[in-house]
Amino acid sequence: SGSPLTGRVAVVSGASSGMGAATAERLAELGATVVVLARRKDKLQDVVHRIEAAGGTALALPVDVTDRAAVQTVAHQVADRFGHADLVFNNAGVQLISGIEELKVDDWQRQIDLNITGLMNVIAAFLPHLTDSAQQGKAADLINTSSIAATRILEKFSVYSGTKAYISHLTRLLRVELGPKMVRVATIEPGMVDTELPDHVTDPDASRLMADLIHDIDCLQSTDIAETVAFMAALPRHVNLTEITIMPTAQA
Ligand code: NDP
Repeated sequence: SGSPLTGRVAVVSGASSGMGAATAERLAELGATVVVLARRKDKLQDVVHRIEAAGGTALALPVDVTDRAAVQTVAHQVADRFGHADLVFNNAGVQLISGIEELKVDDWQRQIDLNITGLMNVIAAFLPHLTDSAQQGKAADLINTSSIAATRILEKFSVYSGTKAYISHLTRLLRVELGPKMVRVATIEPGMVDTELPDHVTDPDASRLMADLIHDIDCLQSTDIAETVAFMAALPRHVNLTEITIMPTAQA
């Protein structure tokens, strides 16, 4: 069918740019009602307008996902407007790589606050939505964005990699509890995707390292991730793709 996600209610965090924005658009194109979360209101509205222009349904709810109470409020707003979400793409993240001896403790904390605490806030707020949807016989998906950094040993990636290793292993453990309740839990672990992600690095050496890594590689595009997430969510309910590694072909 052209609209395999019709009737689904999707929530996408980190949806104002990059992979989140592209995924929100793709899920809407496939029939899902999509709620987009991030801090930048104007960028979120742009995504909503693009979705609506293509005939889809979307709602922007600006939120800083590190604010637990604010995320809870968003979950109630989603329930009031569309009913319980049955697809959560838990994707907001920041990559502030630096040499450990630079002691960029603020950058360490920002990554931990967003990639770990923010991710957990979204899980806390929307898990009741997912379990309820599953209990009603609907497909229910929690898809967390990790990275190949979760397992690779990359210089200057220590804290970022630590947060992504947390996400990947957390997800394996959540499956044990939620799979039997028919909530699918998965991670997507991409290699290099062409997004705003490297723009926030504050350590000049690490910034050069990133530029070298990206140089000459035909990177993945956000739309490649969107297509993959949509594929995972559109599978029959009894099929759970649990850990998806997706690489640019030319990235070693
Ligand atoms: P982007 O920087 O384009 O996207 C990050 C998103 O997170 C933005 O929408 C940003 O929006 C949002 N965000 C940042 N801080 C917060 C916050 N406090 N509350 C809510 N939303 C927030 O990069 P990507 O699309 O590349 O990143 C998406 C995910 O993919 C991240 O988890 C990243 O670690 C992961 N990833 C990326 C790879 C890559 O090569 N690009 C590779 C592997 C994994 P706003 O600023 O408006 O809040």
